[in-house]
Amino acid sequence: MAALETMRIFDGHNDFSMRLENAQGEADYNLFFNRNSEGHLDLPRAKEGGLCGGLFAVFVEPPASSESQDDATKRRLRMQPLQFDFALSVTNRRIAMLQELAARSNDSVVIATTVSELERAYSAGRFAIVLHLEGAEAVHPSLENLESLYGAGVRSIGLVWSRPDAFGFGVPFDFPGSPDSGPGLTDAGKELVRACNRLGIMVDVSHLNEKGFWDVERLTERPIVATHSNAHALCPTPRNLTDKQLDAIGASDGIAGLNYAVQFLRRDGQKNTDTKLSVMADHVAYIAERIGVAHVALGSDFDGATISKELGDASGLPKLIAELRARGFNREELEMIAWKNWLRVLAGTWR
Ligand SMILES: [Zn+2]
Repeated sequence: MAALETMRIFDGHNDFSMRLENAQGEADYNLFFNRNSEGHLDLPRAKEGGLCGGLFAVFVEPPASSESQDDATKRRLRMQPLQFDFALSVTNRRIAMLQELAARSNDSVVIATTVSELERAYSAGRFAIVLHLEGAEAVHPSLENLESLYGAGVRSIGLVWSRPDAFGFGVPFDFPGSPDSGPGLTDAGKELVRACNRLGIMVDVSHLNEKGFWDVERLTERPIVATHSNAHALCPTPRNLTDKQLDAIGASDGIAGLNYAVQFLRRDGQKNTDTKLSVMADHVAYIAERIGVAHVALGSDFDGATISKELGDASGLPKLIAELRARGFNREELEMIAWKNWLRVLAGTWR
């Protein structure tokens, strides 16, 4: 077999910050700087895989629950709305940790807020982190602190996670299921889309329900981006995008980032790590065929998902690229999927 090719990759979604902070609220930065056997993402494994940067999600879990709670209770609590003050304090702490990570990195990691910073980081061999909020609970419904989050470096916001917030309603995880699962954006949600457009913050529609998606489609003046969602036609989970949603993403010059979570890839929706790379390639090929290769990218969900054993972790990315090449994508198309589409969309979103 030919040697695997390492290609520049920019990724639309990971949950590393959840792994970085332990139960005591402290960070162990070696989890990023050293090669770990746990999780999917650290600097050595990213380098091996060609991964040069990506959107780092700040996801706020519910307040620490007592040990006595069973898994069903924990799952239920995760779907309940969060308090703003709590969400903001966790978010500020996580952002500070990611900034500290960059500060301690000996110039090997930067927080990027512009496309030229991303390009400079790549040229200098530095890993680039883009700050993303997964769910907008840390944004006050009056939007009074949006500019201060922007000032802290946040350049991408998912309007909701899969629980309701002040801005809209997320999709459940039922399988099979439709993303058309509730009302559209609230008035605050519509204001948030406009404000993000104005400031130059990317709006992420992953986890948003379908009526909310169409509200974004009507309101936004920017490309529509689903950072980590797949094709509903191939795997009918509410977390995936229907053909009509994909068409709207293509028409807006946006992108859908391939989510590696096996239960969002497989036709049977099973959380089974014996899932072939070809199943991942199926989604890329489907989206590329339907709306064009300019509108599909990568959105791994590393450290937030159960992924294919064959891929393993970030160091396995060249295997995914090889699978896509075997599927018939040429060099130029692979580069679009791996990073160029992301940079085009960020350039069209940030200012
Ligand atoms: Zn997610």
